Amino acid sequence: MADNRGLSHIWLPYTQMQTTPAPLIARRTKGCTIDLEDGRTLTDGIASWWTACHGYNHPHIRDRVSAQLIAMPHVMFGGLVHRPALELAERLCALLPGDLERVFFTDSGSVAVEVALKMAVQYWLNKGQRGRTRLLAFRGGYHGDTIATMAICDPDEGMHSMFAGALPEQIIADLPRDDASFKALDETLAAHRHEIAAIVMEPLVQGAGGMLFHSPEVLRRIRELADKHDVLLILDEIFTGFGRTGTMFAYEQARIVPDIVTLSKALTGGTMALAATVARKHVFDAFLSDSPMHALMHGPTFMANPLACSAACASLDLFEREPRLEQVAAISAQLAAELAVCRGVSGVRDVRVLGAIGVVELDEIRDMNRLKAALVEEEVWVRPFRNIVYLTPAFTMTSAELSHLTGAVHNVLAAGAFR
Ligand SMILES: *Cc1c(COP(=O)(O)O)cnc(C)c1O
Repeated sequence: MADNRGLSHIWLPYTQMQTTPAPLIARRTKGCTIDLEDGRTLTDGIASWWTACHGYNHPHIRDRVSAQLIAMPHVMFGGLVHRPALELAERLCALLPGDLERVFFTDSGSVAVEVALKMAVQYWLNKGQRGRTRLLAFRGGYHGDTIATMAICDPDEGMHSMFAGALPEQIIADLPRDDASFKALDETLAAHRHEIAAIVMEPLVQGAGGMLFHSPEVLRRIRELADKHDVLLILDEIFTGFGRTGTMFAYEQARIVPDIVTLSKALTGGTMALAATVARKHVFDAFLSDSPMHALMHGPTFMANPLACSAACASLDLFEREPRLEQVAAISAQLAAELAVCRGVSGVRDVRVLGAIGVVELDEIRDMNRLKAALVEEEVWVRPFRNIVYLTPAFTMTSAELSHLTGAVHNVLAAGAFR
């Protein structure tokens, strides 16, 4: 008999608790696999929400975190700092192209975005420009689940009408892809520039909003419009950062520099909760004055947790020592080659690949529970959402493991397990 103790006291994320079958219980992870309590082992296709980029239980991360656990698991960051945070901040700034040079640490992606929004709004206040409190974000975007970040998510996915009244009203535009839509964005910015603090977007890939891709050229032109209308550009690299799109950061591909960048997800190699909001010099400088009113008033209790900062430093060591971007390129080529057959499956609308992201978009997924069960039957861990089945494996995945995953996706789709 399965041991279900505790299950009746857990409230699961994004889950209709009445109709969804009980979750599987994970017991152990190793490399790119997850062992379940029921004895099965699954090959992991999504690296725990895109975090475990080096695979699970990497010994180097474990060693650095273990040493830190003995020395100092946590200390408050108010008035005190510590070597793991100093090392990490310095290394992140060296890695990020441009004059992004001040790091504010938090403990989740949503909060990193909240901090970026607060920085942008206060930037203008500190410069004496009142009324620039709104944000411009794009349809299809995802920036988190807190109240302020929901308001800049896609209006349907962010449930803007359901939560009307509870969410601040932001400006949501279509992500421009051609001259006509760039002209429309230009006009929206011209009409609202005196109330807009910043444009917020995910560079190259709108992840949780539907795994939608756009070109570096789109990003470059949005940077131009932000400059033209003198609004800040916040790039949310929480999904794309640390190699996922083929370069260390997605915005490198557009050869632009954002004013503020948010990082989380793969920052600690999938081991600990940590996030960072990184600002350029001119943004930071706007907070310097002799008035305490001009300071950034934010400070999560567990910010810059030393264990998490050590894990992140260890993850950066691995990016330096091991050929991660070459591995991403190889995964990308294999995903493109092996997912192509899904194009021939009835009900498949699109197959697309960018970096280590492989996406099969269906017309619709009618029976999500059945599809998820069929994937587990194939001994893979893949989490379809809406009408999307996607793979975002660890960069260390072997080509045999990846073939197992792409084969499983094709098998369940060809068998019609989503109808
Ligand atoms: C996951 C994600 C977030 C939110 O991060 P949490 O740690 O879940 O709060 C924000 N932006 C993007 C692009 C993300 O992928």
